[in-house]
Amino acid sequence: MSIVKSLSTSKDSSEEEPPDQKQRDFYFDFNKDKDWKELVKSRTMINLPKDYNFERFAEEIKKVSKVYPMNINPYYFSLIKKIDGPIWKQCIPSIKEIEDNFGEEDPLNEESENQIRENVPSLITHRYPDRVLFLVSNKCAMYCRFCTRKRKVGDDRKNPKWEEIQKAIGYIKNHEEIRDVLISGGDPFMLGDSYLDKLLKRVYEIIHYRKNGIIRIGTRIPCVLPQRITPNLCNILKKYHPIYLNTHFNHPLEITEESRKACGMLVDSGIPVGNQTVLLRGVNDDIEVMKELMQGLVSMRVRPYYLYQCDPVKGANHFRTDVRKGLEIYKALRGHTSGLCVPTFVIDSPGGGGKIPLLPEYVLELNDKEIILKNYEGKEFRYPQINLNQTPKSSEILN
Ligand code: SF4
Repeated sequence: MSIVKSLSTSKDSSEEEPPDQKQRDFYFDFNKDKDWKELVKSRTMINLPKDYNFERFAEEIKKVSKVYPMNINPYYFSLIKKIDGPIWKQCIPSIKEIEDNFGEEDPLNEESENQIRENVPSLITHRYPDRVLFLVSNKCAMYCRFCTRKRKVGDDRKNPKWEEIQKAIGYIKNHEEIRDVLISGGDPFMLGDSYLDKLLKRVYEIIHYRKNGIIRIGTRIPCVLPQRITPNLCNILKKYHPIYLNTHFNHPLEITEESRKACGMLVDSGIPVGNQTVLLRGVNDDIEVMKELMQGLVSMRVRPYYLYQCDPVKGANHFRTDVRKGLEIYKALRGHTSGLCVPTFVIDSPGGGGKIPLLPEYVLELNDKEIILKNYEGKEFRYPQINLNQTPKSSEILN
């Protein structure tokens, strides 16, 4: 049986049903509770075209993955429903990536030479006063084709060494204003348990003693390799509370029995789990798809946090949508489904200006007397301003 035969090309993504169990079993044996390391080892590299009878895509895949690496583990691969469908687009290289001449390799100015502060170690991005981004790994369980860090993920030469990690920890220690450390990558959960434990302990020993100190983790693992969320990993994380985690689901097909279990284990460990979705052309730029995704996330106790406009990163411009599409989706969610299901729509401003929220026009007029608002049905409402000059002072009330 070849994947080419088994995947339909006729329906559009919004019509898709989850892959049936028979198809999934063909690519990934769900009955054997495979160890995550085993799954990572058997991830499909450049051999994929041969193994899966992908001959007609082989040349294109080979050419692109020389520039931007490809890695797909059997679990994520098993979610593919059709060629060029939403899962396929996220993981299979496309020639458009190397034909792309627009955008920059580091649009968010994360690299040290592009940062606003001086002497920031290579693994740290220090943009905001009280928090830093700490990139601890260069590996992922699957290399997303739209990745903002495609300039470096999967490149073993750029994998952080322990000495670099120590330098970054030293920087956090010397900057007392830092109270929030966002540990990201690549994917931090691609690190082994004992290494991750050692790293978290070092960060915790600094942050725990700072006022309102927290550790945040950014990982796509609950979506792309949920088997990595093990009881042992949860026991490690629990030692370093308060820990917050943001994961990354982009399509309802990614919500499976396995990912539900993984998210449930994290939440049961006392970790608030949020989700960041990237708005991607041909993947989720559809109101119904997005609504189903957001509702599915909330049903597994994952709070939609951000909906990102896709960054103008070189090699990923074919994923970008018109900004109006994001506003249209936001408008279709707000008021039409639970507020819990509505993420903040943001643009991560090119050049390192940080995240800027975007809202459809709800404010029609704002003056000293009132604010005139439009609700989700387009109806107008007026809210009176308070006249601070006429408010009695508390001393007058007492008298
Ligand atoms: S998991 Fe995250 S860092 Fe890794 S390739 Fe995907 S988007 Fe990029």
